[in-house]
Amino acid sequence: MADYLEGIPVEAWAKDGDGTPIYDQFGDREFCLDHYKGGCSGAVIYRYPLSGTGKSFVRCDHHWAIRCDEQDRINRKYPQTAPRDFDPSYAGESWDEDW
Ligand SMILES: [Zn+2]
Repeated sequence: MADYLEGIPVEAWAKDGDGTPIYDQFGDREFCLDHYKGGCSGAVIYRYPLSGTGKSFVRCDHHWAIRCDEQDRINRKYPQTAPRDFDPSYAGESWDEDW
């Protein structure tokens, strides 16, 4: 086992749905970003970036599902489009940054 995988449960190591190991461009084995939370299961692969950074991270099926739920909550709280009752004349604020 490579040093960088020490302490990381084997179920968190990057692998696709049929168990084929996934390595990064340097040949290092990736692992689930949330492995420290425990409970990794299923495929551990690069996921579609949800945040504005556009960076994709490796997560297992289990933690990806949790992350998606979390993103749903964030999107509801901070919608991309202004809520219907948003009034730009109120407090002189704009919803869009490029205003
Ligand atoms: Zn995980």
